[in-house]
Amino acid sequence: LTERTVRELEGIVGAGNVSLKDEELICYSRDSSLYEYKPDVVVRPSSSEQVAAILKIAERDVIPVTPRGAGTSSTGSPLPVKGGVVLDMTAMDKILRIDVENMMVEVEPGVVCDSLNEVLSEYGYFFPPDPASSPACTVGGMVANNAAGNRAMKYGTTREHVLWLEIVLPGGKIVHTGSRTLKSVSGFDLTRLLVGSEGSLGVVTKICLKLTPIPESFATAVFTFDDVETIAKAVSRIRAAKIVPDMLEFMSAKTAGAALEYAKIKEIPSGNFLLVDCDGSKESATRDMDSCLSILREFHPSYIQRTEDTSLRERLISARKAALPALSRLRPTTCMEDCTFPLSRLAQAATAIEDIPARLVSSSLDLANFGHLGDGNMHPTFMFDDRVESERREFQQGLDMLYRQIVLPLGGTITGEHGIGIVRAQYIEEEHGEEAVRLMRRIKELFDPKQILNPYKGKGGPWPIK
Ligand SMILES: Cc1cc2nc3c(=O)[nH]c(=O)nc-3n(C[C@H](O)[C@H](O)[C@H](O)COP(=O)(O)OP(=O)(O)OC[C@H]3O[C@@H](n4cnc5c(N)ncnc54)[C@H](O)[C@@H]3O)c2cc1C
Repeated sequence: LTERTVRELEGIVGAGNVSLKDEELICYSRDSSLYEYKPDVVVRPSSSEQVAAILKIAERDVIPVTPRGAGTSSTGSPLPVKGGVVLDMTAMDKILRIDVENMMVEVEPGVVCDSLNEVLSEYGYFFPPDPASSPACTVGGMVANNAAGNRAMKYGTTREHVLWLEIVLPGGKIVHTGSRTLKSVSGFDLTRLLVGSEGSLGVVTKICLKLTPIPESFATAVFTFDDVETIAKAVSRIRAAKIVPDMLEFMSAKTAGAALEYAKIKEIPSGNFLLVDCDGSKESATRDMDSCLSILREFHPSYIQRTEDTSLRERLISARKAALPALSRLRPTTCMEDCTFPLSRLAQAATAIEDIPARLVSSSLDLANFGHLGDGNMHPTFMFDDRVESERREFQQGLDMLYRQIVLPLGGTITGEHGIGIVRAQYIEEEHGEEAVRLMRRIKELFDPKQILNPYKGKGGPWPIK
């Protein structure tokens, strides 16, 4: 990065939006993963044209550019492994147009998920993917990761809600994907290719999302069970009964203990925890909850509470969303993993995951589990002390055991919603095979021949990182 390039970047976004200060670069060197890579410079654009001008210079000088939203990723995906520019997209945070007649909303990528939903609620609509990081994460980061969350089982992941995108390609060309209608098959589906591409194919500068009406009513219940296997079997049975609650959220006893304490919920006993939420019309939410209750009773829960109290519902959802921060208080290092299993394998998977610490030699690792069990998605979370070499080694063994001995043999996928980033690049070929990964790399080369955008990770990087 030359003095001249820095001056040019300042000319594009203004000197106040270019930072070379070490204390700022350090802040941008982390996300919620274990990795740390410091950028050479942080640049904060406020328009698509500014992003285009930055990418033009970056391609000319072959400088890596890593887009970044709120930095909540748990995979290292917004970290600049090759240094260069971190493009902080959070200043592009406008809701551009709410078009109720056409059931669409257009936003800039830096809009925070919860802020968007607060505004949409005034119109009776919402953007359903509900990641636990929703108070902080940006819609741009959600699009890049194809984030999902509590309600994805019923309403789909981010991808199912994106109608079109404006993206800036490496080199600076501005491209519009998709059509301005609710359905279209008029081209290859570039929008769906871009969603989940982890900032490695283009920088997203505008997003158009479908509007979804807020359901009229909710019915909520919380259960605890003696073991995780029973919860997994019960969830599979609910799905097989053709009931579609909007939430089937699970926390293992260790996670539930920490999360309920964190959220100061004293009235629910700790145990292997299942939160069930059904939505729709008053009649359908009540009917679905009645059916869930009768199925779950067959699995002999140790505790049941059905509630119509919306404030308790909100607190229970907050507690579930706080699972990771709550666990972070238990040990110096917390590493949240992400895997999804076929519903028929949930019970086997949940039990095998619980057994990981016992199968390791010295078992310095602690493990807790939670997740969106309704769509088979679990977040086994390793807790240890990263400063201790032997614990770090054991963490790597635990990780390999999870993905190589449990997830892949059970027909699962190495990520349901958090993405590949750095952490799972080592396993992608084992899941998809050499030829499929070669195709992914060719797609990356087509969009980004000089490997400028978020290089060396995600789905199209040359691995391993050197
Ligand atoms: C406590 C906690 C709970 C979480 N819970 C969930 C959950 O329930 N579900 C879930 O899916 N995820 C979850 N996550 C992971 C993460 O929050 C989400 O993936 C989120 O969508 C990331 O958004 P962000 O704005 O923080 O993006 P960042 O972390 O900043 O970036 C993520 C990726 O997006 C790229 N990117 C960002 N902006 C752009 C842009 N404008 N154009 C192109 N690429 C871009 C980055 O390069 C990077 O590859 C959780 C994380 C934490 C810490």
